[in-house]
Amino acid sequence: MEAVALRNAEGERPFPSVTAPCLFHESIVEYIHPVKEYNRGQNIMADLDKMSHVQQNNEYDVVIVGCGAAGMMAGITLAEKGKRVVIFEKNEKAGKKLFITGKGRCNLTNNCDDEQFFNNIVTNPKFMYSAVSNFNSADAMAFFEGIGLRLKTERGGRVFPASDHSSDVISVLVTRLKRLGVDIMYNSEVKDIIINSEENAVKSASDTAIYERSVAGVTVRAEGKNRTIKCDSVVIATGGCSYPLTGSTGDGIKWARELGLKVTEPKPALVPLEVSGIDCKELMGLSLKNIEVSFETIVKGKKKVVYREFGEMLFTHFGVSGPVILSASSHLHKYDGQDMELFIDLKPALSYEQLDKRMLKDFSENINKQFRNSIDSLLPRKLIPIIIERSGIDPYKKVNEVTGKEREQLRDCIKRFKLTVTGYRGFEEAIITQGGVSVKELNPKTMEVKSIKGLSFIGEVVDCDALTGGYNLQLAWSMARILDM
Ligand SMILES: Cc1cc2nc3c(=O)[nH]c(=O)nc-3n(C[C@H](O)[C@H](O)[C@H](O)COP(=O)(O)OP(=O)(O)OC[C@H]3O[C@@H](n4cnc5c(N)ncnc54)[C@H](O)[C@@H]3O)c2cc1C
Repeated sequence: MEAVALRNAEGERPFPSVTAPCLFHESIVEYIHPVKEYNRGQNIMADLDKMSHVQQNNEYDVVIVGCGAAGMMAGITLAEKGKRVVIFEKNEKAGKKLFITGKGRCNLTNNCDDEQFFNNIVTNPKFMYSAVSNFNSADAMAFFEGIGLRLKTERGGRVFPASDHSSDVISVLVTRLKRLGVDIMYNSEVKDIIINSEENAVKSASDTAIYERSVAGVTVRAEGKNRTIKCDSVVIATGGCSYPLTGSTGDGIKWARELGLKVTEPKPALVPLEVSGIDCKELMGLSLKNIEVSFETIVKGKKKVVYREFGEMLFTHFGVSGPVILSASSHLHKYDGQDMELFIDLKPALSYEQLDKRMLKDFSENINKQFRNSIDSLLPRKLIPIIIERSGIDPYKKVNEVTGKEREQLRDCIKRFKLTVTGYRGFEEAIITQGGVSVKELNPKTMEVKSIKGLSFIGEVVDCDALTGGYNLQLAWSMARILDM
């Protein structure tokens, strides 16, 4: 059957109302409905039964696993290329994680040039060269505007829908998928990827490797029953392991391991840190602006600053969070297992000398006060008792009795407020997963597994991650746009 038979004048396959007299339409489109209809109690298994019957005729060119950011963009990309596509999503709706991105506003890309984009990729930026030169953030913005989503750019180049609603991003993507005739099966969990192993020594598309195996389909589970869906191309867009309640439970990573592919151990990243050295409950809720954090550990026998950043952070009931802490967490995993100290410079704009002058000025204005009442204008109230204790200065001492040596200790406490990092918070609180399917296994020009014909991995399931600012979603869009079957 020709896929083209289902397309209208613009090359789009209307969904689902067209009644073209073809097997595909009658067997699939008629039975596969968007989630709303399933929620009214229709029988998903009946659909799957009919679909698996049709699948024996290989009605779909591509199965996509996961209807998140990467999966939706993949569906659009491949359907635009004339492929007949089905997406299986285990949730009852599309883009559950996308919905909560950017605090519900979805920072969908960053309005920056490619150089800045690559500077913000933490893991495997080189792997992304082809995908980003094929579809960069300017392309993403044009794409979304082109499918009817008005955008706005905010501080730091962060791009959001003009409406401030992430649901609008999901809505334009789902609408586009439907217009292209992509079928989305909700409440349908892919359990297995089926692989043919007899197909030896086929030249891969990239010519850089020899396929050892080929993909043959997937096993889908819905309403308690398993069904086999045959297909020559499968795209795994199941996300990483972070925020598992959104559906990203690491399935793609598990399959990659089972298939013998190299996987970089997944770790929570862009995640708050647990610390010792303070009573967290005392400082909980305190937010610090215009501070500088530096993380120090032993590198090649010497203590070194391994990450430094200026910005904002906050104290929580377990430790520290906020923008500079989240970014730091993405850079620290390579030192896991080592002692890691966090120093907060509470007055980064002032040198040691300038800070001393400032303290002397404050002291002279409070000449008859006790030391404990003299630094209110210098530090946030919640920090004062802790800094006083750490400085070793008698809090009841008159300000004019504080010695030069004591001022030095106070300066050190303010410029190097020390905490010990004891761990990362878990995947439940991690914005992204660092690690995943090794980029060495994938052809960067197509995202196909070099050794398995027809099998591709895209999005957060791949060992590639970036900082906050819209870069992670851009990774998902770029990987999905370069797919080639
Ligand atoms: C709180 C939060 C805020 C964020 N904010 C931003 C932001 O503003 N900007 C930004 O760039 N990035 C942000 N991110 C990161 C971004 O959301 C992810 O990088 C991105 O969603 C990854 O897309 P993905 O499609 O690879 O995976 P996901 O979005 O996780 O989608 C994977 C989909 O696959 C489905 N699935 C999994 N296993 C199966 C299976 N076996 N069968 C069927 N379906 C399956 C899941 O249910 C899910 O719907 C944020 C993340 C979080 C947690």
